[in-house]
Amino acid sequence: MNTLSRREALHIGATAAALALPLGAAAIEDGGKKAKVLVAGGHPDDPESGCGGLIALYTASGHEVVNLYLTRGEAGIPGKTHAEAAAIRTAEAEAACRVLGARARFAGQVDGATEVNAAQYDVVREIMGEESPDIVYTHWPIDTHRDHRAMSYLIYDAWLKKGREFELFYFEVESGVQTQHFSPAHYIDISTVEAKKREACYLHESQRPDGFYGLHSEMHAFRGREGGCRLAEGFIRHKLNRSALS
Ligand SMILES: [Zn+2]
Repeated sequence: MNTLSRREALHIGATAAALALPLGAAAIEDGGKKAKVLVAGGHPDDPESGCGGLIALYTASGHEVVNLYLTRGEAGIPGKTHAEAAAIRTAEAEAACRVLGARARFAGQVDGATEVNAAQYDVVREIMGEESPDIVYTHWPIDTHRDHRAMSYLIYDAWLKKGREFELFYFEVESGVQTQHFSPAHYIDISTVEAKKREACYLHESQRPDGFYGLHSEMHAFRGREGGCRLAEGFIRHKLNRSALS
C-alpha cells in the first residue's frame, strides 16, 4: 500500500526510485483535471520508442496524448520513393498510436531535410497553440540525427515564445547511437506496460524493429536499475518550467 502523498512520491522519484505515475499527471490530477500531453519526435517510431511506456501509462489513466511527428519518415525505407515511404510509415505511426491510445499529428517536414528557421518555428508554435498541451516531451537536443535535433529546437523555441506555458521534458532514443550525453533525472516504471510499448514499436515493420527495439530493451533494463525497478524510461525536466513540479 502506498501511503505517500503524490507530492512526496514525486520528490522521491526525482531522487531515487522510479515513479508509477507519469510525471506531471499526478500534479494535474491533484488539480481535478486530466492532462493533455504532446510527445514530439522527428520520425514515426520516435515517440513510441522514447516514450511508449510513458504514453501507455498516461492514456491508461485517462490522460490525452498526441504524438507529433516532424516528418513522415520519407527517407526511411531503402528502395521506396519518398511518397511510398511516407504512406507506409504514416500508416505504421497511426497503428502504433491506436495501440497506445494516442492520436497522431504530422508537422509537415521531410525526413532527412528538416529545417530550423523562422517559418518552421512558426509552424510548430502554431501547432502548440492549437493543441494547447499541459506537458510536452521531445528529443534531448544532443543527438546524432539532424531531424531529432530539429524537432528539439523547434519545440524549445515554442516553449520560450509561449511563455513556458507547458511543462517541457526531454526523452532519449537509441542512447549512445543517437541520443548522447543524457543523464536522466526522472525515471518512470514501465514494467506493467512494456508489452504494449513493444507491440506499438513492432508495428513499425519497415524500421526493422528487432534492431531498434533490442537497443531500447537494453535501455529499459539499465534505466530500471538506475531507477530502482525492473524496466524504466528516463527523462530530464527543464529546470525553468513554471510549475511547482519538482
Ligand atoms: Zn528518428
